[in-house]
Amino acid sequence: MIVPETRRKWLAAAVPVLLMLVFAPLALKRLGRIPDTPATQAAAPLPSPVPSSTAAAPAGELPQVNATRAMQYVREVVAFGPRPIGSEAHKKLEAYLEAHVKGATIEHDDFTASTPEGSFPIHNLIAKFPGTKPGAVVIATHYDTVMSVKNFVGANDGGSGTGLLLELANQLRGARRNGYSVWLVWLDGEEAVRQWSDTDSLYGSRHLAEKWQKDGTISQLKAFLLADMIGDADLNIDRDQNSTPWLEDLIYEAASKLGYQSHFFARRLAVGDDHIPFAKHGVPVADLIDFDYGYNNVFWHTPRDTLDKLSPKSLEITGEVLLETVRLLDQK
Ligand SMILES: [Zn+2]
Repeated sequence: MIVPETRRKWLAAAVPVLLMLVFAPLALKRLGRIPDTPATQAAAPLPSPVPSSTAAAPAGELPQVNATRAMQYVREVVAFGPRPIGSEAHKKLEAYLEAHVKGATIEHDDFTASTPEGSFPIHNLIAKFPGTKPGAVVIATHYDTVMSVKNFVGANDGGSGTGLLLELANQLRGARRNGYSVWLVWLDGEEAVRQWSDTDSLYGSRHLAEKWQKDGTISQLKAFLLADMIGDADLNIDRDQNSTPWLEDLIYEAASKLGYQSHFFARRLAVGDDHIPFAKHGVPVADLIDFDYGYNNVFWHTPRDTLDKLSPKSLEITGEVLLETVRLLDQK
């Protein structure tokens, strides 16, 4: 059917008017401008436009992450090439990380892991930034890349979190923070050497959680926040069902405060990652992971996990939400 030009114009003009007449009262009601109560009764007070729990803090107080610098770190990390445990590129990256976090209190957790492909040295790196409150919040990521996939440079998986934490170190360096200590942890040996299983995966985090359990450090941990695969330009961080619900709620509150909630928790799924060993020891944990990397996660663990898929904005969003979450934890 072809609608004649004149009639089309009339329709174009009339339809919005008609729609307005029909829907405007409804829309106004939704906005709370027309009280539902009869005129004889006192109108109920209108809801506050911003619930107090998500009221925006003064702009100056909100955390800010330098997205360009974070992305530059990711670029430099990826430039080392594939970085599986035991490789030369992995050693170079270790030195690069160490050089960057100089000035912070550094701790190492070094050991040899026996894997289905033999023994490999594993190096977890911890940079501690002191706070005024007893207790610490861990922000962790992993820096190794998959061994079994040829030409895998892990821009998102391994690179994004590593670069972001280097930028967080810049944010935390300097004055003692007014709140919990923050420990940045670059975990090693997250990836399976052959095939993911309870024993072939999470080499670094399993060792560190065990070590901190034995020496009592674990009791100091208020929360363990993990950032993994957070560089995807199309950022959709999943709500992980292996994470601690109240901590996930707090992350959502932080994201909402910053106006980033549309990037969070549209989907729920249970993720096996470096937070699991800490959860097993009773630490509140949250994994910030976007496990939808390319349509149906097609870039994950493939040579297509490259820099061009990432966005500095995604690093900024994740970084700022992490820092805001720490601030909310300070206030708890
Ligand atoms: Zn991976």
